[in-house]
Amino acid sequence: MFLYKRLSPSLTCQHYYIIYDRNVKRLRIKRCVKRKGSIRMEEKNRDSYDSKYMKEAIRQAKKAALIDEVPIGCVIVYQDKIIGRGYNKRNKMGSTLAHAEIIAIQKASKKLNDWRLEECTMYVTLEPCPMCAGAIVQARIPKVVIGAMNAKAGCAGSVLNILEEKGFNHQVEKITGVLEEECRIMMKDFFRELRQRKKEKKMHT
Ligand SMILES: [Zn+2]
Repeated sequence: MFLYKRLSPSLTCQHYYIIYDRNVKRLRIKRCVKRKGSIRMEEKNRDSYDSKYMKEAIRQAKKAALIDEVPIGCVIVYQDKIIGRGYNKRNKMGSTLAHAEIIAIQKASKKLNDWRLEECTMYVTLEPCPMCAGAIVQARIPKVVIGAMNAKAGCAGSVLNILEEKGFNHQVEKITGVLEEECRIMMKDFFRELRQRKKEKKMHT
């Protein structure tokens, strides 16, 4: 404990960091092989990489809003290329299955000619529902980047955590909060407009 205390300021320094070693159940000090600057640069690069594809998912979500569907969009990336795009078309297609993620998975699988999407990353504007989280696990997608969380139906940790369920034979790495504000506001605005329209309709009838 003393050691931890003494070294804790160095958690932010470029030379050492402290990890909890599960095997020996104690804290260990590790020398950092990279300089602080390069770690920051790596994080910055990863952030802008994630934002770039999340912006594309948001673009998809806006297409849904244009046809009065709940604005949820998704893209699947393979080797730095988008191989599947999808947006919510539940009403348009009259199908429970027409969620953005399912549509994007189908397109990506068609492109790769494989149901396994093992080297792909999914970007989705809203935390996946139980059906889509299940499909992500089934498709063996290794990583999902999420915009806004969904407290009422999300299965990447909000209601359930299907993506990281140890009982399954595949776990999905998740990154949350990428362009969260933008994704959240997009949903909020959509439902506000919907309520407004319903109100106006009631007034005119
Ligand atoms: Zn879904």
